[in-house]
Amino acid sequence: MASVVSQAEGIAVGPTKLLINNKWVSSKSGKTFPTLNPATGEEICRIAEADSADVDEAVKAARRAFDEGPWHKMNPSERGRLMNRLADLMEKHADELARLEALDNGKPYAVARAADLPLSIACYRYYAGWADKVHGKTIPVNGNYFCYTRHEPVGVVGQIIPWNFPLLMQAWKLGPALSTGNTVILKPAEQTPLTALRVGELALEAGYPEGVLNILPGYGPTAGAALARHWDVDKVAFTGSTEVGKLIMEAAAQSNLKRVTLELGGKSPNIVFADAGMEETIEGCHFALFFNQGQCCCAGSRLFVEEKIYDEFVERSAARARRRTVGDPFDPKTEQGPQVDQDQFDKVMGYIESGKKQGAKLVAGGARVGERGYFIQPTVFADVRDEMKIAQEEIFGPVMSIIKFKSVDEVVQRANKTMYGLAAAVWTRDITNALGVANSVRAGTVWVNCYDVFDAAAPFGGFKQSGIGRELGEYGLQNYTEIKTVTVKL
Ligand code: ADP
Repeated sequence: MASVVSQAEGIAVGPTKLLINNKWVSSKSGKTFPTLNPATGEEICRIAEADSADVDEAVKAARRAFDEGPWHKMNPSERGRLMNRLADLMEKHADELARLEALDNGKPYAVARAADLPLSIACYRYYAGWADKVHGKTIPVNGNYFCYTRHEPVGVVGQIIPWNFPLLMQAWKLGPALSTGNTVILKPAEQTPLTALRVGELALEAGYPEGVLNILPGYGPTAGAALARHWDVDKVAFTGSTEVGKLIMEAAAQSNLKRVTLELGGKSPNIVFADAGMEETIEGCHFALFFNQGQCCCAGSRLFVEEKIYDEFVERSAARARRRTVGDPFDPKTEQGPQVDQDQFDKVMGYIESGKKQGAKLVAGGARVGERGYFIQPTVFADVRDEMKIAQEEIFGPVMSIIKFKSVDEVVQRANKTMYGLAAAVWTRDITNALGVANSVRAGTVWVNCYDVFDAAAPFGGFKQSGIGRELGEYGLQNYTEIKTVTVKL
């Protein structure tokens, strides 16, 4: 059996294997682990578990493909065509991929179908377009020389992705890496390996040559760490927690100084001024926090609201949270599914307890939903103070913290008092105020009167401890190319 078998009706998912050198293989250890359905806590199927021996094997294949395979001679436009073919196949199988994503991750199927799938496909198409458009410069150096630069692929790339947007994170990673001619070993998160494997099958069908794309599900401290410290991996790209990001960087430094890009945690300030349109801002801030069960690194999790409208805003936000429909990811009315696993569930419930203990006012939710699966009520805390844990730490769940402020200078200063700098938003009808705040907030992305607006062409990444480097857009290509300077005596 290849990896994931999907049927037209329902989803039949088999035990899965590792994708190494275009072959589906068992792990060398023979070990497997379960992937669970977060809506029930039940096992979906067994997943072949990669560890360092499998990483070695995959790195060898990726190295061969990079140095000797047809890949390294392939025309850039052909790389673009391959990627567009993969995007076509994903489009053809979009329903099935969305179902698989909902099953493995717990996100509502309708959301996966309307957001994760089109955004992932658009990302591949965007980078397919870049394949034959990445080029160097000619440089007017002093003396009688002809000097030019080439943008060459970095080489063998290890990519470690999280579970909150499995397909989309895969696209953000594979898109720029493969379009610029690198070879890849991708490690999906242990919670959500299924769609990554299915895309692996589609990549084989698209015609990617041997060794170019290898997919190794496994755990972080084993398979992930083996990639980060491998001497023959030229670059590692990671999305996940700040804590693990530091381990990745350390491993890269202590091995071969491989290039490192990191997209890490956040505690993003979402700033609402009194002149913002109340109705759309309440809805926008609700979305900013609760989208994807609150499991977004850029969630608007420090919601600063101007004193003049604070009480009304809190009351209406709580009412909106109470109306949020939580339940079966396959029910079309569901807005919020379960958290991804027991660990995340426990962590979020712990933060809710901490909010109560530290004196925040619980105005909506606060409890689990149902008896099985990892469902949590949309939860809103008011009267949150900056020093509380729920205002400081990344919760990664459906818990909104509403904080009061009085003036612009004060809120900007408080917004910046964090080790993170991933995203921010400002809601106001005053353009001068909006742009003033946008310029002053130390974050990689600032949204004005909107939130979570993503586009493959617009870069995303963090200031401070939210990361290193940018993904998406033309900037995202820089992570996957080395600049070579060639100087010719005339
Ligand atoms: P979360 O806490 O949200 O699960 P993590 O940062 O732990 O986020 O995980 C993100 C990704 O990093 C996953 O693919 C995970 O397996 C991987 N990972 C976790 N620990 C390590 C590690 N020590 N080295 C490399 N990768 C790791």
